[in-house]
Amino acid sequence: MSKVFNWQLGREMDYPREVTSPQKQIGWIFDTNKCIACQTCSIACKMTWTSGRGQESMFWNNVETKPYGSYPTAWDLEVMKKIGPGSWEEGVYDGQTVFEAADGRKEKVAGVLPSDEDWAHPNHGEDEIAGGTMPQGMHINEETHPLWFFYLPRICNHCSYPACLGSCPRNAIYKRPEDGVVLIDQSRCRGYRECVKACPYGKTMFRPNHEVSEKCIACYPKLEKGLQTQCVEQCIGKIRGQGWISNPKEGVREDHPIDYLVHIKKMALPLYPQFGTQPNVFYIPPTHVPADYLAQMFGPGVAHAQEAYRTIKKDEKLAGLIQLFGSTPFILERFDVRNGIAKGFDKDGTLVAEVPVTEPTVVRDHYDKKRDVYRLDVT
Ligand code: SF4
Ligand code: SF4
Repeated sequence: MSKVFNWQLGREMDYPREVTSPQKQIGWIFDTNKCIACQTCSIACKMTWTSGRGQESMFWNNVETKPYGSYPTAWDLEVMKKIGPGSWEEGVYDGQTVFEAADGRKEKVAGVLPSDEDWAHPNHGEDEIAGGTMPQGMHINEETHPLWFFYLPRICNHCSYPACLGSCPRNAIYKRPEDGVVLIDQSRCRGYRECVKACPYGKTMFRPNHEVSEKCIACYPKLEKGLQTQCVEQCIGKIRGQGWISNPKEGVREDHPIDYLVHIKKMALPLYPQFGTQPNVFYIPPTHVPADYLAQMFGPGVAHAQEAYRTIKKDEKLAGLIQLFGSTPFILERFDVRNGIAKGFDKDGTLVAEVPVTEPTVVRDHYDKKRDVYRLDVT
């Protein structure tokens, strides 16, 4: 057991292993306002890594509809029941994490082992709305938006304090020092499924025919070449960014995409920070969803993040950075926005992306005299 500082909780906490920080930590940003649940990311990942026998129900990347969707079933509700209630006081969490809620005699991490049935329905709850039914004549405007749902894309968070790693009795799980990627050593794993039970995000999975656990590997062969993961590169909605995230205690970089969004502008937030694993996937919360629901999911910074997104047009640098999402297959190490142009640079400092902050708008005539045709799409 060691005492570690979790910046997302604003306090120290217990962690069941000794920890050495990686030289760099990989991280992601997902903009939930733009996700259309096309599942291209899920399929890109599945076609690349989990199309074999025994992996039929395995989605390292999944996209679920909140509040009713979940994969595995009720993963987040089950963990919240385990850790119990907690609240935030000036950015400090006073409840228990999955490590602190564990019964030390029986387990290192408080977790729930999903059943086979729980893994069998990755799309349950898809597109189901919250807030009641839609009466005839009801329409949506900015003031009244009582009905809502949103899409939550999910991968392994390559946590700074991984619950999977902390729970493994075989020491088969490790965090790579060069990039913070969390991997399972298949030769050491004996399929005890302690990690499957411990991961509060339901992101380690058991492969019955090989009798080992498997999980997202952050596409490390691509990562080592400076390339984005499959789920990021293939994202149709251009909702995803990928890069390095700094520990705020060690300083943050203003020209660094993830640092800028997470630490400086605080527009992207960790998912269920109260679980205590210090996850490294950060979400821009949806602007149309009630902030009190989102606060339990993304912590106390939701209202600020929503407002930053709503007013993004006034902030050229922030708007430009968002435009860089989906503009290049390379991991962006640095960005720069000026004179209406956003630029992204790779690990060698080479310019790999250049996009306008605002796309030009062209309005065409509804009737084209030259061709004697009517246009349906005029902008
Ligand atoms: S590919 Fe992108 S837009 Fe489509 S479901 Fe995945 S995250 Fe959402
Ligand atoms: S999300 Fe789960 S599987 Fe991934 S590193 Fe964190 S605890 Fe481990």
